[in-house]
Amino acid sequence: MTIKIIEPFSETGSRADLIAEARNISKTYAEESGGARMALQDVSLAISPNEVVCILGPSGCGKSTLLRILVGLIQPSAGTVFSHGRQLQGIHPGASLVFQNFALFPWLTVEDNVRVGLHGRGLSRAEESDLIATTLEKVGLGGVDRAFPKELSGGMKQRVGLARALVGKPELLCLDEPFSALDVMTAEALRSEVYRLWSEGKSGLSSVLLITHLIEEAVFLSDRIVIMDANPGRVRAVVSNDLGHPREYRSREFQDFVDHIHDILTAVHLPDVPVEPRIPQATTSERITAIPAVTLGQITGMMEILHDHGDEMDLFDLNEFVSQELGQTLTVVKGGELLGLIETPGDLVKLTPEGKHFLQASVADRNELLASRMKGLGIFRMVLQMLDSAPEGSLEDEEVVAAVAAHLPREPAKQLSDTVCDWGRTVELFDYDAVREVWSKKAHE
Ligand code: ADP
Repeated sequence: MTIKIIEPFSETGSRADLIAEARNISKTYAEESGGARMALQDVSLAISPNEVVCILGPSGCGKSTLLRILVGLIQPSAGTVFSHGRQLQGIHPGASLVFQNFALFPWLTVEDNVRVGLHGRGLSRAEESDLIATTLEKVGLGGVDRAFPKELSGGMKQRVGLARALVGKPELLCLDEPFSALDVMTAEALRSEVYRLWSEGKSGLSSVLLITHLIEEAVFLSDRIVIMDANPGRVRAVVSNDLGHPREYRSREFQDFVDHIHDILTAVHLPDVPVEPRIPQATTSERITAIPAVTLGQITGMMEILHDHGDEMDLFDLNEFVSQELGQTLTVVKGGELLGLIETPGDLVKLTPEGKHFLQASVADRNELLASRMKGLGIFRMVLQMLDSAPEGSLEDEEVVAAVAAHLPREPAKQLSDTVCDWGRTVELFDYDAVREVWSKKAHE
């Protein structure tokens, strides 16, 4: 199968046609520690009429941020958002949103929850009721208008969410991980429902923008799949999806396409290059990179799972086995890779010879192996050097956080230094006094 990788901007339509268009968007969030986190960097994306666009990527890569910027819910730090060729002012008038957690008002009936979607339209009560009844009918909820959310199943709640989003006849329906809280069968049914509602064209709906971390979901619904990369969030590839409808999850061509997207994602997230130089230079200007926010326990837990499956697993099988978000699984895998215990050739996740050895070793030997690995990582070397040159061999936590922030301005400095602290003290590279918030050298160091 040939995969067409295309430009972030849709190939069709003039600027005035484009429903929503982000040009060179960056977004930086302020952090509690006083630092800044770049969630999106120079992202451009346009939504044309009559298309379904899926944004696919691991947790934290900026999908929700991008969606919210496109519909004017939040402002970008740099770049511009347009709608139909004009700079967007305030909230996009033609867009509506459906959230993962339904976001229904528990004290309102189904009918009144849907009515919220008509707020500010200036319709009479009778006109509202007509529109609500038609929309509820359309999403398969005729007859439950007087029910309260707590009386409904998850799937029905999300149908109410859909009705509320569709009742105002938006041109762009935005769905933020809308089926993640539902069981697999309900999610499949609702996906088909969304496709039907869109393809019927009766609701005035022109395009759909869906955020997901599930490849199958993107392949089932999309005309284009935008694959994002994290830290900072960027568009890494845009793939056009020409599979014919109706799409069958179990068909050969569907599965082939899933595999291809899987390969692109894996290439993006598990590149076959070392994450950190294997032999670090002992210079002050050495490259310092972040370590993922996972515990050593999570990494060893994943290694045990790999061991139970013959020391290697396909990334996506592993993800399914641990039932986590892909982003979380990738973070743990990256942690293991950084420590030389896991490797990721192609789309496989496997134990390295050291990883296998580690699992058989005693606690003391495990710690020794991990400590020697950590000493090879720039960020631990930085902390150890700082401790060596500190007058009393001890440092205030704030000093470490500040040094981390200075070297890695785009990372959440406090979270990162907490992870460094957690890993280092577990293997006794250094001590940490949690009451005084002081790092210190180990007596024997
Ligand atoms: P995704 O939808 O892909 O999971 P998000 O857009 O929610 O990603 O978040 C992208 C990054 O920005 C994450 O690191 C997240 O922690 C951070 N972030 C999101 N919203 C805020 C906020 N309001 N304040 C600070 N950081 C935020």
